[in-house]
Amino acid sequence: MADRADEFLPFSRPSLSEEAIAEVVACLRSGWITTGPRVQQFEEALRTYLGAPFALALSSATAGLHLALAALRMHPGEEVITTPMTFAATLNTIVIAGGRPVLVDIEANTYNMDVERIEAAITPRTRAIVPVHFAGVPVDLDPLYALADRHGLRVIEDAAHAIGTEYKGRRIGAFGDTQVFSFHPNKNITTGEGGAVTTRDEVLAADVALTRFHGMDREAWNRFGKTGSPHYEIIAPGYKYNMMDIQAALGIHQLPALDGFIERRTALARRYGEALSGWPQWTLPGAPSYAHRPAWHLYAPLLNPEAAGMDRDAFMAAMKARNIGTGIHYRAAHLYPYYRERYGYKVGDFPRAESVSDRIVSLPLFPLMTDDDQDRVLGAMADVFAKGK
Ligand SMILES: *Cc1c(COP(=O)(O)O)cnc(C)c1O
Repeated sequence: MADRADEFLPFSRPSLSEEAIAEVVACLRSGWITTGPRVQQFEEALRTYLGAPFALALSSATAGLHLALAALRMHPGEEVITTPMTFAATLNTIVIAGGRPVLVDIEANTYNMDVERIEAAITPRTRAIVPVHFAGVPVDLDPLYALADRHGLRVIEDAAHAIGTEYKGRRIGAFGDTQVFSFHPNKNITTGEGGAVTTRDEVLAADVALTRFHGMDREAWNRFGKTGSPHYEIIAPGYKYNMMDIQAALGIHQLPALDGFIERRTALARRYGEALSGWPQWTLPGAPSYAHRPAWHLYAPLLNPEAAGMDRDAFMAAMKARNIGTGIHYRAAHLYPYYRERYGYKVGDFPRAESVSDRIVSLPLFPLMTDDDQDRVLGAMADVFAKGK
């Protein structure tokens, strides 16, 4: 291959097979491009891979969070407990569904929400808990579900990073209440844009099936008469959150490749860990003590600014100048202007999340990344620290 050293190396890039591309073309040629047989096939494949009773494909994970939260039909003042160390959509959808986001700080080693802090945040107004499996490391779900059951709370796992993650030998989606997956191009598998809700709850599954497409129910019409009718009934005002067959065409081929993607991500993560373990500039991601398989959605160490001689943003700019892309996942969500102004959150409220927020960097990690690409990242990093800029 040609020398790629001058090419920009992004922090993430999707792996799309020729078969997946051909499936999109076949879909386009078939005359049926919106929700149809390929979406059904993808949903069936998700149910099988995840071991989930119900799987509903959607236009995004944000749509999935919105619909799962909207199904709670929250009254003003009702609360949903989540983490500040997440993408804004987790909090935004709680607000849009009529709830108040109540945050608990993260664990020091995994940056997942600290399950031990949840109980103190529960009030008579709490309706649900939304844990986020950060970077594909599972939240400690056994104590979390025990707590949720004790208090009668819904659990909606934001599993945007966690397709293929396992907790104590069980796949995320194969147990528990409700999960929301993302198929954005940066995620472990992609449908361009897309998401899915999986659940054990038949009532929630029916609700999502209805609200994802206008609140349109063909069965309701059939109840009054003939089958195969062109008519439908609107039994609730719904959204327009359906996945297209064009998107599912990619998903059908991405899902069988997922375990291979995770293997490659794991090998790269291990290599980063080995290469960086002696560096005072970094605090490397930690692992929980319980059995798990991380999906390695991100490799996101913390920069130690004193040892590095620069802050995280200066480091990212210096890497960019060397043609290496990096990312921030995430800035602590409670410090965004909307959340400060509306709920009064401020610096100091969640010290662990804030420290991570200031120091975290996602290094390039994607299945198509070669060992040479990774060596380029490590070499650029050494150069940045040696030159101090
Ligand atoms: C990507 C992401 C989402 C949103 O997913 P979309 O499919 O882009 O809507 C939600 N939560 C987390 C933690 C994410 O990383």
